[in-house]
This record gives sequence, structure tokens and C-alpha cells, in this order.
Amino acid sequence: MEALVEGTIAQRVQSVLAKIRSAEERAGRPAGSVRLVAATKTVAVDRMKEGVSAGLTILGENRVQEALPKVAAFSETPVRWHFLGQLQRRKVRSVIGLFEVIHSVDSVELAQEIDRRAGEAGCHQDVLIEINIGNEPTKAGFSPADVTQAVTIMAEFSHIGIRGLMTIPPQTDHPNEARPYFRKLHELAQQIAARRIPSVKMDELSMGMSNDYEVAIEEGATLVRVGTAIFGTRHV
Ligand SMILES: *Cc1c(COP(=O)(O)O)cnc(C)c1O
Repeated sequence: MEALVEGTIAQRVQSVLAKIRSAEERAGRPAGSVRLVAATKTVAVDRMKEGVSAGLTILGENRVQEALPKVAAFSETPVRWHFLGQLQRRKVRSVIGLFEVIHSVDSVELAQEIDRRAGEAGCHQDVLIEINIGNEPTKAGFSPADVTQAVTIMAEFSHIGIRGLMTIPPQTDHPNEARPYFRKLHELAQQIAARRIPSVKMDELSMGMSNDYEVAIEEGATLVRVGTAIFGTRHV
């Protein structure tokens, strides 16, 4: 990872954006088909602002408690927020309306609570469905085998918009070893899309982190979530 974290935040933002562009090109995908979500958990607001000045437009947070004051600190700055972490049902109410996309819907019950709270607030919440693509016992997310049926149930919730899938693949030593998992997520999204479930879109694939976002883009990612390669190693 050390090679990834040389230079200033501004230089690293530029470097990640350039690598995203070349990966799009290699994959024969139009420029701008992939959006960078900067994963900013544990990163201080002033360093996040450095990143925004250098070109970051989407900030992704993992914990409600940490995210709320940060969102407030950026109230004068035009950035979008995405929620990336595991979301507890009792915290849903405080995030409704703040995040463009919640990447981490990992149960029908959570989707139902987001729907209920969005309805109360009179808004519509876009979400991604988190998939445990490696069927790892300790990891959150729907198993690929169960997700299609769950999506048909969640499609009935009228205050959420299902926009696609998200995954965190099993840890691998080399980025290329993550490729089969990314490919599998893409195929799963295509299978769900083929069902033409009313109101369900499968346009977004949130996959790829500092180590493997270029491979994820080659396999169809539309949102990559990158932390360490921009802000350096987290020590917390
Ligand atoms: C922290 C985090 C990331 C970014 O990970 P890096 O390896 O630091 O790029 C991406 N997605 C989620 C869900 C995260 O929690």
C-alpha cells in the first residue's frame, strides 16, 4: 500500500481520477461512467476539504455518529454524501435526506425501515443492495442465492429506489484475484435486471476499493469507494 500513499492529498486525488479514466478507456467504457466516492471514515474535516478542493465530489461515510457533524461542517460546500457502512435500523431516521445513496442495504427489514422513514419525511431514498459475494460467514449482505426474491419484496417499498448492487469481496493478495467476484456481481445485477421488476433499476455497481478499483472498473463498476489511496493509511 505504501506506493499508493505518496504525495499530497491533492496529488493523490488527481492520480486516482487519472487511473479511473485509464481504466474506463481500457474497458472501452465512456469517460465519466465511473464516479469516485471518497471513503472518509476517520478522516478529519480539514483533510476532507483538501480532497474536495482537489476534485472530490462525493464523500462516503460509514458511521452515523461520525457522519452527521461532518455533513454539517460541509453545509457551505457543494458535495454529495453517500452512506457506505452498516446501518442500524434505529439510526435510519437521522440519515434520511442527507445521503444521495445508501450503499449498504443488507436486509429486507432495513429497507422497510428506510422506506417508512423516507415516507414520513416526504422524500425518496436511493439505495444499493449489499451482496455478500463470497458467501463469507462474518460479512453483511444478501447471499447471491437469496437476493432476487428479496428484491421483489423490497421493490414494493415506494419511498426507496433500488438502483443497483454493492459488494465488498473477500480479501485477496492481488487485485486480479478479486476479478471473479466483481464479474459475479455484474452477472447477478444483469440477472436481476432481466426480471424487469417494476421500479427496480440495476444501473449502479458499487465495487472496488483502494487496492482493486481499476480491476472493478474493468468489470463494470460505476461507483468505486476509495479511502486509503487518497487519505493514507487509517491508524484508528
Ligand atoms: C473503508 C471503506 C472503503 C475504502 O477502503 P480503502 O481500502 O481504504 O480504499 C470502501 N468501502 C467501504 C464500505 C469501506 O468501509
